[in-house]
Amino acid sequence: MSESPVTRHPTVAVRVGPILLGGDAPIRVQSMTNTDTADVAATTAQVAELARAGSELVRLTVNTEQAAAAVPRIRDALERQGLDVPLIGDFHFNGHKLLQRHPACAEALAKYRINPGNVGRGARRDEKFAAMIETACRFDKAVRIGVNWGSMDQELVVRMMDENARSATPRDNQEVIREIMVVSALDNARRAEELGLGPDRIVLSCKMSGVQDLIGVYRELARRCDHALHLGLTEAGMGSKGIVASTAALAVLLQEGIGDTIRISLTPEPGGSRTREVIVAQEILQSMELRSFTPMVVACPGCGRTSSTLFQQLARDIQTYLREQMPRWRDRHPGVEGLSVAVMGCVVNGPGESKHADIGISLPGTGETPVAPVYEDGVRTVTLKGEGIAAEFQRIVERYVESHYPPAD
Ligand code: SF4
Repeated sequence: MSESPVTRHPTVAVRVGPILLGGDAPIRVQSMTNTDTADVAATTAQVAELARAGSELVRLTVNTEQAAAAVPRIRDALERQGLDVPLIGDFHFNGHKLLQRHPACAEALAKYRINPGNVGRGARRDEKFAAMIETACRFDKAVRIGVNWGSMDQELVVRMMDENARSATPRDNQEVIREIMVVSALDNARRAEELGLGPDRIVLSCKMSGVQDLIGVYRELARRCDHALHLGLTEAGMGSKGIVASTAALAVLLQEGIGDTIRISLTPEPGGSRTREVIVAQEILQSMELRSFTPMVVACPGCGRTSSTLFQQLARDIQTYLREQMPRWRDRHPGVEGLSVAVMGCVVNGPGESKHADIGISLPGTGETPVAPVYEDGVRTVTLKGEGIAAEFQRIVERYVESHYPPAD
């Protein structure tokens, strides 16, 4: 893939376990488990599944003594599988206690997420926050100051709302809420630095569930600091609504160079895989030409010229096939993630689109001669016929990958 089309907002790089986030590092994909963290086997299995799907960081809820005790065991179980994906502990209310009582948990995590709205009130709040930051300093860990508009710091809300009400030119409430989010993140980052945490250990986020709110808040954060930024629309929702809302918000910010790591907070369908959020995050970044993860399939939508389901099945099968090959191809065939594949329904746009792709197939539309020409590097190389078109096309793709992306030495 060619050079990034976007100039990134400059941020301080943060080391999170074995990877860098922010600075010149690629925009990282992250996800979060939904298992009970105390269930070591289930959580290890889900972290492994998310990591293998491409999640570069995985966050876990750490909410109880049992969950904190489980974290080092999960870390060990992942290492035994050869997975070094950094784990992030998500703390609310009792994080200071859990980190103090479970040093092995504090050590096993690569980053702590602290929600300033859920640390406490008044002087106790300051003590608890300081305790968590001091633990991060002692274990040399990164921290995300993760503000969420569903759990804002109520003392700050009251103070800033009062100030606004007394102002000669009061602002709209929503505007004040956005400003509270930004101030909460920046004030807590400043406090963490005063406590000894370096800017190279701090990531900020201000998650909101409205697209325009999220865009407004992150633009302001980017304008006012150079901390690495974690992007995500909170409570995005289920299915297409969650995907569309997240994409709408993140695409605007990413295009402006804002964002160093993203998470897509999708509510899974009952029984659906948690890896969906990883795939959507990758697809957003790849569609915007910001990163490449998996060969992309260009497929036409089909229309009245494609009456059979052959075309839909072929498009689906080839997309699934490509994704399934990636764990094997990634190391063996460097650069293969930039491969483009076209699967087209008929002769109207099929040959043209197939020629633009690295490799493409144009299926016969209804009433057309039952043949499917294949194009490689813009040149028609073979014409497939009969029942085995899908399998034969996959073999051609495999041969193309072998010859165009030779194994690394
Ligand atoms: S390429 Fe053919 S089948 Fe696909 S949408 Fe266009 S006209 Fe319809």
